[in-house]
Formats: sequence, structure tokens, C-alpha cells
Amino acid sequence: MTGTDAGAGVTPGLVCAHHHIYSALARGMPAPPVTPLTFRQILEQIWWRLDTALDLEMLEWSAKLAALEALESGTTAIVDHNESPNAIEGSLSVIADACAEVGVRVVCAYGVTDRHGPDGARRGLEENRRFLAAGGRGLVGIHAAFTCSDETLAAAAALAREFGVGAHVHVCEGPEDAEAPDRLAGLTDERWLLAHGVHLPTDHHLAGTILHNPFSNLNNSVGYANPARFANPVALGTDGIGAQMIETFRLAYALQRSVDVTASPETAWHWLETGWDLVPEARTDRVTWSYQPMDPWHIAFTPGIRPLRVEVGGELVWDEHGPTRVDAAEIRAKAREQAARLHARL
Ligand SMILES: [Zn+2]
Repeated sequence: MTGTDAGAGVTPGLVCAHHHIYSALARGMPAPPVTPLTFRQILEQIWWRLDTALDLEMLEWSAKLAALEALESGTTAIVDHNESPNAIEGSLSVIADACAEVGVRVVCAYGVTDRHGPDGARRGLEENRRFLAAGGRGLVGIHAAFTCSDETLAAAAALAREFGVGAHVHVCEGPEDAEAPDRLAGLTDERWLLAHGVHLPTDHHLAGTILHNPFSNLNNSVGYANPARFANPVALGTDGIGAQMIETFRLAYALQRSVDVTASPETAWHWLETGWDLVPEARTDRVTWSYQPMDPWHIAFTPGIRPLRVEVGGELVWDEHGPTRVDAAEIRAKAREQAARLHARL
């Protein structure tokens, strides 16, 4: 590992390259009225009911909880993808401010979609523009090609080019999005982030970093992305299920090993390191771990590795007593209140 003292149990801050901070309040939500049987039904029955019920106060405490849990996992940077169709305006600033308060870096994006008609798509684009124009650290979010018109995809790509950033989009997470490589052809560049790629052909022509989310893909029963097959860079994310990147690395390694007995944990560790190309600031952060050496061959077979100290930008933001800037008990209590409010709307 470069630029670190991994042998002494110290690394830069880890990066969660694909997160949905809004889903931190989802755990414990009521079961859907109908058991979903397909990926599209999982979206319709669970995530699209949940995101429709969000308001800005819920997002604020969801983000504080997600940021707190990131620090508890040694993760100092989150690449977030937000969707809150009834609380679009200002949502990216609420998330950015909440993360900053806890001391976690965040790269925000609003996932534009035509699911709520052209006006919903327009408002999503406008929130990305508002946030980026105000100097926010962000990308242009796109939900996925299969929920967007060609006009919306082109407008999002143009907005990203205008601000000199990439777009953050779900690509071929399930079979429903099989047309994504054609729909996105000519729009992507190396700054784009392509989440999942489970059903993306190996010889696709999309540019950008593939974001591999092993736990979420297993949970949604969509299949194994086998990201080692792609020529694109690969980074690791959680798709909204926490920000425990050591655990994510271990699962990514074991899954790769399940299809390739020669796979080395160095490959999945390299995917984790790709996060530093996406959020270079995190390289300057410092996490002291409970285990040494922080070497992929050790970590892959060592459960329960946890941070002892987390420093972001030279400031101690978390140690074994908890976060230094915020009250962890208050965040958990407020998040529980907001989760109860959210679940009551479902
Ligand atoms: Zn996602």
C-alpha cells in the first residue's frame, strides 16, 4: 500500500465509493405488502416507497447516522447517491452539511429520474446544478438509464461536462437495465462512476469506474458482477448498507475466490484503494487500526478489525470514546425518532 504505514496498522481514511445515505433509516422498516420477486419489484416495493416518504429532516439525521457509522468503520469519505423525490431542493446541502458536522467527507449527487415525470427529472437536474454551482463537492447523479428518457440522460451528461465532473449512475444492476450500454453510449467519460455492472457485458464501451457492491448484490439476488473481467478501474461500495469497507473488501475477495480459485486478496484490496483516486483528499486522512499489519493477506482472514483512531484533515474526529465533534448518543436517538416517523409513512 502506497503512502501509508500499513505495517504499523495505519492506513489513509477508507472510501465508500457507492452509498445511499438516505437508506440509513431503512433498517427495521415494515415489510412490503407483497413479497418482491424481481429486482424491479424490490425497487418498487421497498426503495421507491421509502425514498418517496423522505423529508429533509429525515435526510439530515440519516446523514449524521451514516457519517457516524462511517467513522466507526474507519471510512472518512462517502460517495453518495441521493434520491428523495418529495424533498429534492436543498437535499444535497443537507447531506453535505450533516457529514461535515460529523467530520466525514462526502461527494454528493442527486439521482435524476423520469419516474416522477419530466418535472421530477427537471427538479433533480436543477438540484445537481444548484449544489455544484454553489461550490459543493459533487457529481451529477442519474438513477439509471431504464428510468430516464434519452433527453434526461443527455441533459445530465451535459451538466456534468459543464461543471467538469463525472456522473454517478447505476448501470446494469439487474436485467431490467440491459439496454444501459446502448442508452449511455457516447455520454460517459473516465470521470463517470458506474454502479454495479452485474449484467454489463464484459466488452461494453462505457468509460468510468465500476463500483462493485458485493453485499447489496447478494441481498438483491441479482447475481455476481465479477468485476475482475472489466478493463475499467473498479472501486468498492455498499449501496447504502453501512460504510464498513474492511468487511466489504473481505466479502469482495471471498466472492471473487468463489469463481476463481487463483484469486488473490490483493485484487480486492486494489479495488478498495481505487477509492482514493475518486476522493484523493482521503489519502491525507489517517486511521489507526486494532490490527497490524494492514496487509490484504492478513485482513482477508482476520475478522473484527476495527479503528482505534480516525483523523480527518489532521483533526482527530473519532477515537475509542466515540466521535469528538458530535454526540453519538444524540445522533442515534434522533435517527431512531426520524426512522419511526419515516416507517409510519410507509
Ligand atoms: Zn445504488
